[in-house]
Amino acid sequence: MTTNTAACASCRFFDDHKLNGAAAAGDEGLCRFNPPVSQPEPQSPGLWPVVASKDWCGQFTTAMTAAE
Ligand code: SF4
Repeated sequence: MTTNTAACASCRFFDDHKLNGAAAAGDEGLCRFNPPVSQPEPQSPGLWPVVASKDWCGQFTTAMTAAE
């Protein structure tokens, strides 16, 4: 893997459903590699990290395809 091929948009942990309230918009999505974090209040749902489609990190894993 080279860094110029890694992108959140093609990572299996990228979720473009944008269910993180108003935090995710445009080409952003949610990274679901780790559990949600940073609950503002005990009764609030945890938040998933918001990433842009062209972001990447060292946990990048190619999105699974139908052939996998
Ligand atoms: S931050 Fe890393 S693990 Fe999360 S979607 Fe992007 S490349 Fe994947």
